[in-house]
Amino acid sequence: MMPSALAAIGFIFVGASVHDPSARLVWLGCAVVTLAACSSGLPLLALRRLRIVKDAPERLAKAVRVAGQRVGHTPRVCFVLPWGMLNALAFPLLDRVAFTSAAVARLSDSDLEAIAAHEIGHLREPKSVLALRFALGMLWIVPLAVFAVYGNSRSLLVAFLGVVTVRVLVGSALQRMEVRADAIAKHGEGEGGDYARALERLHELNMIPAVLFGLKTHPSLYDRMVAAGVQPQYPRPSPPSRLRGMLLALGGLGAGHVLPTLVLIGVLWLPRLANFGAETHMLFNVAIAGRGGDVGELATLRSAAGRIDEARLLFRVARELGDEDPKRAAQLVMLEVRAGRCEDARRVLDSFDPTEGLNQARAAIVQRAVARCGLDSARSE
Ligand SMILES: [Zn+2]
Repeated sequence: MMPSALAAIGFIFVGASVHDPSARLVWLGCAVVTLAACSSGLPLLALRRLRIVKDAPERLAKAVRVAGQRVGHTPRVCFVLPWGMLNALAFPLLDRVAFTSAAVARLSDSDLEAIAAHEIGHLREPKSVLALRFALGMLWIVPLAVFAVYGNSRSLLVAFLGVVTVRVLVGSALQRMEVRADAIAKHGEGEGGDYARALERLHELNMIPAVLFGLKTHPSLYDRMVAAGVQPQYPRPSPPSRLRGMLLALGGLGAGHVLPTLVLIGVLWLPRLANFGAETHMLFNVAIAGRGGDVGELATLRSAAGRIDEARLLFRVARELGDEDPKRAAQLVMLEVRAGRCEDARRVLDSFDPTEGLNQARAAIVQRAVARCGLDSARSE
């Protein structure tokens, strides 16, 4: 679901400036609560308070009422979403259905009634399926938890893509629920074929092909019409080309998962893809996560580039932000020694154990450098 994914991305940006472990726990707790709210469909109620989502006009409310009587369940309220695509949505945990404004404007009363019956079918799904749908929304907590622990863009992206994969695979497994909702909608329809014709009109006005290939949340229109007892007037077309099908899947059915991922990939990886170099990539990491380790890596790059003063400053900032990497601490010690700041070098050396994480020879070099620091200049005076 789009709201959960967008909420997860929002939390990643907020979490970038949360470094204290207990504050990070609070941040994760807030994320859990927000994702639970999004997975339950609560943003719909918030949008209604803001008058962005409206109550159904009488024509739509009546169509939903009639459909409810037919399939044996009347939802509490029906809403209208301001959206240019003709569509209808079910919010089972809220016991509500919603139509887009375009659907209300362009579908006939009988079409609205037929589609409403399908959405009400979703409201009557088994509790196990409702729990699964909720769990899919909560799955976005995984990349947030990974981010809280590792705080770098690569593990975050891997976790994010993992969640997208699970959601797409499970989402297409939930196709059975679409078939079930179709059967409920067809059951007891007025004139035979009303439901199939409403589906056809929906696809026609949205310009969605009658047959699609690959993973998708709904079966193809052609198969749904045949299952609903109406044989289309044309032979079953072959699906559009793979590329066009994929673009459609990206633009339509998969937008809820794919778009937030593309945003994340764009922010985290475009600099690298565009070959802007490690420095820019690291700057992005610092901007997004701002962890001590990221700043420390940036300092290492600056040091390698010979920008010593900047490197020394960044190493110090990294340590303030909790970077405990002994190799980087040793680098800072050596830079302080080179700058003749022996007290600072000693202070850094005292703050970590050079025998841990550094090989013996390197640890000895660092200790010797600090021991000799200041002696040479003192002797020459
Ligand atoms: Zn459906």
